[in-house]
Amino acid sequence: MIILSFDDCHIEGWAGMVMGGKSPKAMTFYVSDLAGVSPARWQMLRDIEAAGHEIGFHGMRHLRADRPLDWDAFMRDEIDEGLKIMESEGFIPAHYSYPYGAYSQESNRRLLERFKTLRAVNAGGLYRVGEMPSVWAAIEFDFDRKDRAVLCPREPGDVACVFMHLPNPARLALLMEMAAGNGEEFVTVSDAFSRISMPSKAST
Ligand SMILES: [Zn+2]
Repeated sequence: MIILSFDDCHIEGWAGMVMGGKSPKAMTFYVSDLAGVSPARWQMLRDIEAAGHEIGFHGMRHLRADRPLDWDAFMRDEIDEGLKIMESEGFIPAHYSYPYGAYSQESNRRLLERFKTLRAVNAGGLYRVGEMPSVWAAIEFDFDRKDRAVLCPREPGDVACVFMHLPNPARLALLMEMAAGNGEEFVTVSDAFSRISMPSKAST
């Protein structure tokens, strides 16, 4: 199983990839910087979702979450203001990815009140079915280096998690070729977590 996600606000690039038809069937797009999103780009996001992909949230202004000066202001201006805009455009994101991968115990505690899962970066990227935590991590997609260790032949039941910003067609093609060769499927974050039982908070 492969979770491929994309971050930031590269909506035209994402839409071009999805509508071009040469991309994985299920991906997740974490959107940030919502103030600059035009009606036409919101429609692109709706089209992406309608094509079977998932839209997540990546922050109203792409702020770090590891050390905000004022947590109440962070939740109000960075999280809830953005969620309100997303809802008005027809999206209720269940998953969040941390800008810069920056988080803390306090950010996890507060954001898990809003989202089912939180994605960090470059801390692991490989999980076992049934052992995937609500705060998980993906590695940045750079096929030539560390990704090989995560993506090359693995045990059945492994979940590989990678992320990108702008689509890179050559790397995407390689990733899809490798996935097909391994009999791997691409899944959205919600798909993966609905199939994978998360450890309960009480037991961790
Ligand atoms: Zn980002």
